[in-house]
Amino acid sequence: MRRRLVVDCADLAPGFRIDPASATVTASAGTSLADLMERLLAHGYFVPVTPGTRHVTVGGAIGADIHGKNHHVDSSFGAHVRSLTLVTPDGAERRIGPEHDPELFWATVGGMGLTGVITDATFDVIPVETASARVDTDRTRDLDSALALMSATDDRYHYTVCWIDLLARGAATGRGVLTRAHHATLEDLPPRLRRAPCATTPGRWRAPRPGSRPGC
Ligand SMILES: Cc1cc2nc3c(=O)[nH]c(=O)nc-3n(C[C@H](O)[C@H](O)[C@H](O)COP(=O)(O)OP(=O)(O)OC[C@H]3O[C@@H](n4cnc5c(N)ncnc54)[C@H](O)[C@@H]3O)c2cc1C
Repeated sequence: MRRRLVVDCADLAPGFRIDPASATVTASAGTSLADLMERLLAHGYFVPVTPGTRHVTVGGAIGADIHGKNHHVDSSFGAHVRSLTLVTPDGAERRIGPEHDPELFWATVGGMGLTGVITDATFDVIPVETASARVDTDRTRDLDSALALMSATDDRYHYTVCWIDLLARGAATGRGVLTRAHHATLEDLPPRLRRAPCATTPGRWRAPRPGSRPGC
């Protein structure tokens, strides 16, 4: 009988440390992006890439080289990783990065865990003034107008996503809702929110309870 092994990386000691001088964070591979977002915001930083669910770990973000709604501007998660610790199948612990053992590093980014187990990583974080986003939303009447609006305005926004209605027919084929956003600056906020611009509700971004529907 073949033996199989599952490694639960969420049990790797959670924790992180910020280096403001280089605007990087070093986090255990088991730390969830949801946890990181909440804690980083308190220090005026945000994660470099967020997928459609924030309930993923740092190890999973690197293993699948996840993309976010800022892919057109910032590329995927791996582009922000400065170095990581990898335990390879021979049991060795290696510190690798784009400059140190780049071949193994780039095989690990998006490598779906096939090169070994990532135990921690150092990656860039985005300095932010607030925990809010400034959002513009437009309805588009068909696919051509959705694509035209995206092409014309994408470079002005940090985040952009378009929902396309695949059930609409005729002239409305491909109609959609285009949402684009920036991290809000202090000046963008109404005065009542300026007192604690990076405040979040504790626990608000933790994992959903079983049975609840994930966001996308
Ligand atoms: C609702 C929803 C929305 C999503 N939206 C997006 C999106 O917008 N963009 C996007 O890119 N993805 C998206 N995803 C996919 C998700 O981001 C990836 O599947 C992510 O890798 C999951 O991370 P995880 O921590 O759950 O890892 P797992 O699912 O446990 O693992 C994912 C892969 O990474 C490897 N891995 C995990 N931890 C480690 C480690 N410590 N060392 C080495 N390898 C490791 C695993 O072997 C596996 O191959 C979405 C998923 C859901 C459920």
